[in-house]
Amino acid sequence: MNTFKDLITRVLIILVTLVQSTAFTFQANSISTRSSLLPIHPTSFPLFAKVIKSDEEWRQQLSPAAFNVLRREGTEPPFSSELNDVKQPGTFACAGCGSPLFQYSTKYNSGTGWPSFYDAIDRDAVDLKTDYKLVMPRTEVTCKNCGGHLGHVFDDGPKPTGKRYCMNGVAMQFIPVGDDLELDESVAKRVENVSYTGTTVKTPMETVLPSIGLDAVVAILFLSSFLNDKPLEAIQNWKMENLTLLFPLGVGSFYAYSAVKKILSALA
Ligand SMILES: [Zn+2]
Repeated sequence: MNTFKDLITRVLIILVTLVQSTAFTFQANSISTRSSLLPIHPTSFPLFAKVIKSDEEWRQQLSPAAFNVLRREGTEPPFSSELNDVKQPGTFACAGCGSPLFQYSTKYNSGTGWPSFYDAIDRDAVDLKTDYKLVMPRTEVTCKNCGGHLGHVFDDGPKPTGKRYCMNGVAMQFIPVGDDLELDESVAKRVENVSYTGTTVKTPMETVLPSIGLDAVVAILFLSSFLNDKPLEAIQNWKMENLTLLFPLGVGSFYAYSAVKKILSALA
């Protein structure tokens, strides 16, 4: 019984830590956005004049589905977006503010049911931050111009970046090449400056560090809980109820793996 109580107490500690981490990461991200020293690329959008609107204004401008994704961080159902099938040349822009986000040449079929890209146009297109909404850490992608939620980026994409920008189609609009010549020219200039020696958009260090620290703390808590339960004795006197020992081992290993992966990608 004591082991069970211990486990519940530890899980509660972890949950409180995760809730706090969300607030902390949010703060870290706001700071990194404000103090951004990234190179400025030619663009038809004012880079530092962010679009700021009230919820009511966004609600009037956007469809309910787009509002739910862009302003409420919702997720559209897979295979629901017409943008999944778009293969022609053009630009994918934010459905909230019109800022160009992705170019057709980086779009690929990920088979997930959401429009997927291996890179953003450049570092002025999107912001990245860690979110813990599903407890497992994920990297959220937002529009740099209006802060609208677009989707998430994962590390299982194709070359040359290895990234998979998994986007909500309803959060974007597609502008075919030739429909807006000024936009075509500005995107072409921005893309010219991108070299594929790595990913264009790097997660800011201020966002990565707390995330690595928290992953490490969670990993240590769970792994030490596993070791405290004397796993060797449990294996020697095996009973079915000893299977619960695998839970802290599994969670601890996952977070340790996640911390190591983030350290490696931050150093890359
Ligand atoms: Zn936007």
